[in-house]
Amino acid sequence: MKTVEAEPKAAEPGLEFVPLSVPEIKGNEWEYVKECLDTGWVSSVGSYVERFEQMVASQAGTKYAVATVNGTSALHISLLVAGVQPEDEVLVSTLTFIAPVNAIRYAGAWPVFIDAEPNYWQMDPERVAHFLEQECKWGNGELRNRKTGRRVSAIIPVHGLGHPADVEPIIAVARKYGLKVIEDSTEALGAAYRGKSPGSWGDIGTFSFNGNKIITTGGGGMIVTDREDWAKKAKYLTTQAKDDPIEYIHGEVGYNYRLVNVLAAIGCAQMELLESYVAKKRSIAARYARGLADVSGLTLMREAAWAESTYWMYTVLVEPGAFGMSSRKLLKALESQKIQTRPLWQPIHLSPAHKGAQQLSLPVAEHLADHALSLPCSISLSESAQDRVIAAIAAAANSGSH
Ligand SMILES: *Cc1c(COP(=O)(O)O)cnc(C)c1O
Repeated sequence: MKTVEAEPKAAEPGLEFVPLSVPEIKGNEWEYVKECLDTGWVSSVGSYVERFEQMVASQAGTKYAVATVNGTSALHISLLVAGVQPEDEVLVSTLTFIAPVNAIRYAGAWPVFIDAEPNYWQMDPERVAHFLEQECKWGNGELRNRKTGRRVSAIIPVHGLGHPADVEPIIAVARKYGLKVIEDSTEALGAAYRGKSPGSWGDIGTFSFNGNKIITTGGGGMIVTDREDWAKKAKYLTTQAKDDPIEYIHGEVGYNYRLVNVLAAIGCAQMELLESYVAKKRSIAARYARGLADVSGLTLMREAAWAESTYWMYTVLVEPGAFGMSSRKLLKALESQKIQTRPLWQPIHLSPAHKGAQQLSLPVAEHLADHALSLPCSISLSESAQDRVIAAIAAAANSGSH
């Protein structure tokens, strides 16, 4: 597509680059990794894997946690453990990173995309209830989509950008129809929904520790659940479904989705600092809220009364009319000042990768995706760098308005 926008002005020389979000490695990572290397416990068995699992279970408030190689594999296994069958349908937030939707397809099932609500930009519980009650049919102990005839078996609410989704009403309607709830809590590690961690409300929850998440192991994931049989099954499936480790007897087709000890060691060091990371993200958010309050044409992130957000990614909506330029033009203007920002994800119901799913119109997510821009929010972001971001946005608003 050709654009007719003017060339952005060249940045002043010597201006420091402000990245969107970079990992923070300042704790015991080196010490723990060195211990793995010194003792030879580098691979898929080792004490850090178990320790990391315990730390995340304790943070999530669940009885069990199973470490995985990444968040996507945690979602894949969660769907299998929840009993999702090929050709089933799974309700999922459309405004999300693509991973949970891909995982639904790995399980051979189909996504049904649910729109966001306009206040906190999360899966809309009313749309979930509407779909299940108006567009599905209950019979023989199963719920089927009237249009496709497929069985609906699970719901994946994604807790987006650090703010919890309103999962209580979603779980209530899921229970009514025997659907399982898998919470993709990746972006909300350290958040609270009605005083309890995301991931602990549904049947099973997942986290990711990719480099851009609130804590990182480079790459890694976790499944959390209170169900002992599900935790055992998850461990079994992520470790090649091995029934006899000496004779190499495997009960079914499993997966090699283990997290290695070296990475779990990094995870332990990162978990030790999670609370301070969340506090820093929240103070960055509060500072943006103060600094940007008077800029017209911006809608700032909100926090529900029942939520404590991690503000994993600080995102604003840019109304081109009132602000003076679109979110994408603002991205370019900030880029010229060496400030990195990013739009949200293309809503997955519009993704070419998932064009085989039921086609629905989901206007709220589309509006949010068109207008949103995520601002620099690294844990290491300095106040002076943040002030530069705020000033550059205010300047762009003034320049665009005449
Ligand atoms: C990053 C992310 C994932 C995927 O995690 P990986 O570890 O990259 O596989 C899944 N869900 C959400 C919401 C994410 O943000």
